[in-house]
Amino acid sequence: MRIVALAGGIGGARFLRGLRHTAPEADITVIGNTGDDISLFGLRICPDLDTVMYTLGGGINEEQGWGRADETFTLREELAAYEVGPAWFTLGDRDFATHIVRTQMLDAGYPLSAVTEALCDRWRPGVRLLPMTDDRVETHVVIEDDEGKRAVHFQEWWVRLHAGTPARSIAAVGADDAKPAPGVLEAIEAADLVVLPPSNPVVSIGTILAVPGIRAAVAAKTVVGVSPIIGGAPVRGMADACLTAIGVETSARAVAAHYGPDLLDGWLVDTADDGTAGDLDGIAVRARPLLMTDVEATADIARAALDLAEELRA
Ligand code: GDP
Ligand code: CA
Repeated sequence: MRIVALAGGIGGARFLRGLRHTAPEADITVIGNTGDDISLFGLRICPDLDTVMYTLGGGINEEQGWGRADETFTLREELAAYEVGPAWFTLGDRDFATHIVRTQMLDAGYPLSAVTEALCDRWRPGVRLLPMTDDRVETHVVIEDDEGKRAVHFQEWWVRLHAGTPARSIAAVGADDAKPAPGVLEAIEAADLVVLPPSNPVVSIGTILAVPGIRAAVAAKTVVGVSPIIGGAPVRGMADACLTAIGVETSARAVAAHYGPDLLDGWLVDTADDGTAGDLDGIAVRARPLLMTDVEATADIARAALDLAEELRA
């Protein structure tokens, strides 16, 4: 079975661990969001690709959900002693090594897809991890506060401001001119099904779908998604702030309607949202527990997604 998954960071990575667990024989290609990528301290940082790589490769900080396990912060302290920031973006010593290797390879002329493959040679995530594009796409958020109206990098809004300042709009800058990375469209075309893990519908999945060609290729397949919204709120993070910015209500149903029946064939919602189950014009909706409490519970969610895809393909 050939499966393609579109993934952001934590929600995507945890789901993928369950998917790999329940379908160990499947050939899984993960198309990762790169809209969160940022250059800091002269280094290129790809938070979502790294979260997937570390989670599936066994190097993730489990409690935090991102960054390396057994991390130390000497480099950060030394930078702070020089008053070199930003102080709001935490990078540990082990994590820094990944960004140094990536930046060195990018500077040598390798595309991000080749760099990601090289990094995965170490981590052996058990899936093929592809960035959505090798081109530069950056999510920017237009905010307005005491300092006036301005666009900031997604990370500044999310990490420094904790999405506390309302977003006027969110844009994937560069997406219109970006090309899917090598292998992305081919993997989608060859897939038996595409899964949308419970990743952020706006700044993770939405950004991947904004790369020209990806949405149409995905829509041509049997697509099943897992809701990141349970009981009208994100399980963790501030996805509600992103949904509000694009005028979508924070509910499992509204997210499915936002993806639309042209894209989505099946949608898993939590039992807390069971009252709103019942198919949504053209989308088969099923309710089941969706909290990814451990690998087994997550594998059961992934299995339910595969079963629904199977049912819808029949
Ligand atoms: P990020 O890039 O690290 O923000 O991660 P993603 O975009 O992949 O995923 C973020 C989303 O995962 C959030 O909107 C959360 O609501 C969702 N999420 C986190 N944990 C769970 C869970 O246990 N169950 C479900 N259904 N969604 C979850
Ligand atoms: Ca992210």
